[in-house]
Amino acid sequence: MHLVLLGPPGAGKGTQAKRLAEKLDLPHISTGDILRNNVKLGTELGKQAKGIMEKGLLVPDDLMAKMLDERFSNPDIKKGFILDGYPRTLPQADCLDRILKDKGLNLDLVIYLDSSDEVIIKRLTGRLVCSKCGANYHVTNMPPKVQGVCDSCQGSLYQRSDDNETTVRKRLEVYKQQVSSLIEHYKNSGKLHTLNADLGAQIVLEQIIELSAKV
Ligand code: AMP
Repeated sequence: MHLVLLGPPGAGKGTQAKRLAEKLDLPHISTGDILRNNVKLGTELGKQAKGIMEKGLLVPDDLMAKMLDERFSNPDIKKGFILDGYPRTLPQADCLDRILKDKGLNLDLVIYLDSSDEVIIKRLTGRLVCSKCGANYHVTNMPPKVQGVCDSCQGSLYQRSDDNETTVRKRLEVYKQQVSSLIEHYKNSGKLHTLNADLGAQIVLEQIIELSAKV
């Protein structure tokens, strides 16, 4: 299964990708997670990306291309993959096509998780993330059993620095500038499916599983 999850920040790409990766035993490739890890480790890429991410802007395509190339040279992708957060621009979609072509791979499914601004802002400004396993929670919609502690691995929960309302609005604006060209890119492939991601995470997951079973 070679699957891409598209959609605005907060549509649930990370949540769905994590659950699917577990269910289908596939690598979950989140470009946001890779970048955050680089920031944490203080790598050259992390230093370049940090300020850009805090402003809610996009890391330049050339840096992303290098990063993706590296990630796709890991042999674990032979099993398949769930790509979350990439591509975000048309040049990135072209880059992904090139990388896959080089490896003799094809995309099986492109799922567009569509969500309204109102829902996104509520979701992201209340989101909590586990510092150890990356699981997502929400202060009111999906609270952990013990405040500040991850249910599954007991890691501590934190709020991402870009999950404040000002940065979320900027991220949405940036997203909207790019999305139509991405949709256009995948529209004719017959692999693009749009789901209403304002619905609950479990319903959306079941719909994705249904689509992936048909591949
Ligand atoms: P995410 O975790 O997917 O919401 O990504 C967090 C931030 O990382 C984004 O707001 C961007 O600054 C950066 N980022 C993640 N993926 C990409 C990408 N494909 N292209 C450019 N920037 C990205």
